[in-house]
Amino acid sequence: MSKVIIIGGGASGLVTAIFASLNNDVTILEKNSKCGKKILATGNGKCNYFNSDFTSSHFNTDNMDILDSIITSDNINKVIALFDSIGIVPNIKNGYYYPMSNQAISVREALFKECLVRGVSIITDCDVTDINYNGTYTVITNKGEYDCDKIVVACGSNAYVKEKSVGYDILSKFNHTINPVVPSLVQLVSSGNYLKSWSGVRIDAKVSLYEDNEFKKMSFGEVQLTDYGISGICVYQLSSLVSRGLYNKKEEVIHINFIPYIDDFIEYMNKRNSIVKKRTISELFDGIMNYKLSNTLLTLCNIDYNDTWNNISDDKKNKLSKMVTDFEINITDTKGYMCAQTCSGGVPLSEINPNTMESIKNKGLYITGELLDCDGECGGYNLGFAWITGIIAGEALND
Ligand SMILES: Cc1cc2nc3c(=O)[nH]c(=O)nc-3n(C[C@H](O)[C@H](O)[C@H](O)COP(=O)(O)OP(=O)(O)OC[C@H]3O[C@@H](n4cnc5c(N)ncnc54)[C@H](O)[C@@H]3O)c2cc1C
Repeated sequence: MSKVIIIGGGASGLVTAIFASLNNDVTILEKNSKCGKKILATGNGKCNYFNSDFTSSHFNTDNMDILDSIITSDNINKVIALFDSIGIVPNIKNGYYYPMSNQAISVREALFKECLVRGVSIITDCDVTDINYNGTYTVITNKGEYDCDKIVVACGSNAYVKEKSVGYDILSKFNHTINPVVPSLVQLVSSGNYLKSWSGVRIDAKVSLYEDNEFKKMSFGEVQLTDYGISGICVYQLSSLVSRGLYNKKEEVIHINFIPYIDDFIEYMNKRNSIVKKRTISELFDGIMNYKLSNTLLTLCNIDYNDTWNNISDDKKNKLSKMVTDFEINITDTKGYMCAQTCSGGVPLSEINPNTMESIKNKGLYITGELLDCDGECGGYNLGFAWITGIIAGEALND
């Protein structure tokens, strides 16, 4: 039996504690007054905690091979078994797992209760500031010092918190590399006078990311057009790559097809104009596009709303077609850490043993969750990664 301290009672820390408590004296040191505060915010308060299509293709990481050895069918089954064993019944919608209660709090409470049942000590309002190593580990906190044989750094990333995570400084002190950390699953910022005029529009669209003119990734779904740029889940799915690219000074341009269900815009409008007669161009858009968006696009093409389709020059029709089906928006920034659901970057997966989550640089030091350079798409992937890394570390701590 070892004395184990877990820094952070969030998603991965709670799960590590549940598994490690089998054979160890486990203590969680948690900065907040309660564990798992972030879990409450997940899935809009409903907690999308897993996905039935849980493969590495839904993640960005510095090392896909190592990720593949973490996301195994065995580990996926362990996540499902864990939630069964703590009484969380899944309500699966299009592969997205939610608790049947539809309340994130039930996931947090179930994990927390399981820790208590298994005899895990939980010290809250305990802000860890540093760790020292001298054969054993000493954790420095606002509540004094705590000694242990093994330590798990599970204190999360910079996402959705006011202060930078202490985890990065602690792990660099223990000779870990920290790959550049940037916000991910986050809104994207642009500039342009037109942004105010389309603000508030939500539209199902196809969005494609180009980095330095090279196609990177496509996503389809609801896009929210705002006065600062673009948002919505399908934009979030591209945001990790955009954030990493902006950090590397790459040009990030998103191409939006506002009516992806139409093959040829000009042919479509010709037909529409012949069916829906005596309409202005603005009126021709009624019924297929939010007027705020169509008016914005017409203005950008210098087309008078009151003009008729037949009266518009071929040049302007082609320009409008490009705007509607391949609108280019230059991304200059993201909305930052406070708006982000996760972070890209962190400790390279090559610096941990994927079978144990133990650091390859420091014996007895384990790293879980978002501190690692692995971020998932929306859809239960980030919590899923937190659970899996927590299970691996917790089980290994019993050996
Ligand atoms: C708004 C929002 C919605 C999200 N929705 C989803 C979703 O639906 N599905 C999904 O899969 N993922 C979602 N995520 C992402 C998911 O919540 C995280 O990926 C996951 O919680 C990361 O787990 P973790 O253990 O690494 O860190 P965390 O869960 O952040 O836990 C870290 C813990 O460490 C504590 N801590 C930090 N610093 C210290 C310190 N110095 N001393 C002591 N304790 C410390 C923190 O208080 C926290 O409790 C969402 C995130 C946000 C912000």
